[in-house]
Amino acid sequence: VDQDQLAELTLALIEVPSVSRNESALADFVMSFLAGFTHLKVERSGNTIWAETLLGQGERTLLAGHLDTVPGELERWRRGGTIAGRGAVDMKGGLAVMLGLAAKERRSNVTYVFYPCEEVDASENGLRFLAKTHPEVFRCARGVVLEPTGADLEAGCQGTLRVRVEVKGVRAHSARPFMGDNALVHAAEVVTHAELAPRRRPVIDGLEFRESLVPVRFESFVANNVVPDYASVWFNHRFAPDRDVASAMEWVRSVVMTDSVDAVELEDSAPGALPHLEHFKELKELIPTSRAKLGWTDVSFLGQLGVPAVNFGPGNPELAHGNEEAVFEVELGKVFRALNSWLR
Ligand SMILES: [Zn+2]
Repeated sequence: VDQDQLAELTLALIEVPSVSRNESALADFVMSFLAGFTHLKVERSGNTIWAETLLGQGERTLLAGHLDTVPGELERWRRGGTIAGRGAVDMKGGLAVMLGLAAKERRSNVTYVFYPCEEVDASENGLRFLAKTHPEVFRCARGVVLEPTGADLEAGCQGTLRVRVEVKGVRAHSARPFMGDNALVHAAEVVTHAELAPRRRPVIDGLEFRESLVPVRFESFVANNVVPDYASVWFNHRFAPDRDVASAMEWVRSVVMTDSVDAVELEDSAPGALPHLEHFKELKELIPTSRAKLGWTDVSFLGQLGVPAVNFGPGNPELAHGNEEAVFEVELGKVFRALNSWLR
């Protein structure tokens, strides 16, 4: 498989729209691509497909890619070494690389998983369903998620949590605010307090993570002539994988807590994943640039299943989900060649 074929394959995958929950046509495409290969055992459940090499008991590497894209069709084209269209970056370029790798007979065991519904709520994620119905698929020594990383190695991932901070005040007429205690003003103090807290940038396995705490939503209103007696502020916290959800939550609590705070509720969370670079030494030698993954990907979920994993795929992640989605053909070639020689 050469770069030109990978480019054509990427374009062909883009030609089949696959917005989350509507992946069946693309799953059919993947099935028919894999159907001819006798060196693979291919199975499908719903729109999740997994293809396994048949070399017996040896160590196995898992490659994973989601079939779905966010909504919003874009013009599809290929010119000047670039391929554009919805999903070009996230992540049909990565899927093309996976199919190219699957086409080749190998000397090491590989499992290729194509799954739906990654771009929607985690409760619908096809990888999670597969882990429940076919846990044996995940008996792998290591994993690579082909999410876009600009063809650099992005190891580990940060955890994420969302908290709601409740602030209480005392209601009063706005003509006599001294009779009340304005919850909205206190909520603003909470935001300022949180904003001033230093963010950590821990270095793990030689990679620098970068934590964040961002107020994402604010709510308070009684009437235009009333001092509000309640306010809520929501924060999204991204935390490095040397902390678990509980200790990250403890830190958030410590920086949002002021006298007026009534409650700090954890609404949603997902742990991060350590870089585990010791499992990817040979791959790292093939790729000059590696860094920490600041966003959250299914690498974290694989970590929870006991499969150490990294992110490595074609496409600039900053273009993902946007209206300028386009992938460079050289990155398709670069990722393919690195994985092809690493997997043997
Ligand atoms: Zn993605």
